[in-house]
Amino acid sequence: MAIRSPIIVVLGHVDAGKTSLLDRIRNTSIINKEAGEMTQHIGATEVSIEVIKNISKTLLNIYKFELKIPSLLFIDTPGHEAFSNLRKRGGSVSDFAIIVVDILEGFQKQTYEAIEICKNLKIPFLIALNKIDRIDGWKPNNEKPFIETIKQQDQKVQAKLDEYVYNIVVKLYEFGFDSDRYDRIKDFRKQVAIIPLSARTGEGIPDLLLLISGLSQRFLEEKLKINVEGSGIGVILERKEEKGIGDVIDIILYDGRIKKGDKIAFLTRNGVKYAKIKSLLKPQNLTDIRFAKNKFNEINEVYAAAGIRIVADNLEDALPGSTIYVFNKDEELKDIENRLKADISDIIFNTDKEGIVVKSDTLGSLEVLTRLLKERNIPIKKADIGDIEKNDIDIALSMKEKNIEYAVIVGFNVRISKNAEDIVKNNNVKIIISDIIYDLAEKIDNYIKDIKS
Ligand code: GDP
Ligand code: MG
Repeated sequence: MAIRSPIIVVLGHVDAGKTSLLDRIRNTSIINKEAGEMTQHIGATEVSIEVIKNISKTLLNIYKFELKIPSLLFIDTPGHEAFSNLRKRGGSVSDFAIIVVDILEGFQKQTYEAIEICKNLKIPFLIALNKIDRIDGWKPNNEKPFIETIKQQDQKVQAKLDEYVYNIVVKLYEFGFDSDRYDRIKDFRKQVAIIPLSARTGEGIPDLLLLISGLSQRFLEEKLKINVEGSGIGVILERKEEKGIGDVIDIILYDGRIKKGDKIAFLTRNGVKYAKIKSLLKPQNLTDIRFAKNKFNEINEVYAAAGIRIVADNLEDALPGSTIYVFNKDEELKDIENRLKADISDIIFNTDKEGIVVKSDTLGSLEVLTRLLKERNIPIKKADIGDIEKNDIDIALSMKEKNIEYAVIVGFNVRISKNAEDIVKNNNVKIIISDIIYDLAEKIDNYIKDIKS
């Protein structure tokens, strides 16, 4: 048994500073590269524990604890869309979430969504209260831990910061979470940590990295304990066609090991499919990741946690959001097949009960959407991936006679297919399409209320 790296996601409202925070973490580790590796993955960046120790030296002298995890694996694409594909049955592949909040703006729409998601999927999270450098009168101390830089601020600035922190504490309380500024927390099991920081000046980044490391190894130890030599399990983030290579899938491996030549099983819209791995690719480790883009090395094997590209035949309809299993003995296959089938039947279905039609672009987004609708007690007749087709409209039209309020098609990130356009024009079918999941849920809610009243 070994402890693998925790998989960290960054969520939060548009412009809160998610990208800036990830960039800052990457740059900080590049600058500290003599301390250890800064390994580039597909879809993720790994910051080794040596780098974290180096960045957080002064804090480690105060908090004194032993770091056992090998590194932190940060998912590169922040935001809720990428997050929705980091799924596994009944939960998420991510071990820990950083929810970024703009200190001057406070909680905004997607902050609420992010907390809702974490609460739902039981993902532990902390709040990165970003842009402290924008507080009136703030004196920046670049790269310093928050607990040092705060002492060097005027009383008035300190009081102002605490006022902002307090506002967050109140908001979290409304969600049922007890929280506090991280340096005042007594029991991290019971309270959500708020870390004031700045992605621009780097203040508070040492605190953030050390705290995530400490919390994840302390509270997630069981989850992170894996048999690294076991058969690999991962999730498909993306499938695409690469010129000169063919179909590839990008995956996050979160358990076991994956090797060149391994057989894999995964979901497509038409059930389980298999492939044999022709090659495994990872980005080149250059000191500056900007140059590493699109330059890959072939490797023979990789251990969790890692982000990796798989080249194989038969990947053309692999579903993003599907679990991917390595199987090397055929007797393992039955069990894996059953698990995959059970997983997809929860998400893609067509029942004979009354309800609305739901279409979405990926397994992950469809799952989030159906979960939201179920929470709002909106019945679903059909849930599927792909554009809105004639068949979907037929179902909605047939609903009209039975239960008019359910004669509606809801689409996330999809379009109306060409051959369905005419039927839409000639019939009065309500179609609600959006590329923000939570907007969609609200719109449907309102629509059904309107019809009923
Ligand atoms: P995202 O939409 O959450 O990814 O946010 P971005 O990282 O793109 O940041 C949005 C804007 O806020 C950009 O103009 C950033 O330069 C700015 N920003 C991000 N972090 C900070 C910070 O700590 N301080 C200040 N002053 N500006 C920041
Ligand atoms: Mg961004």
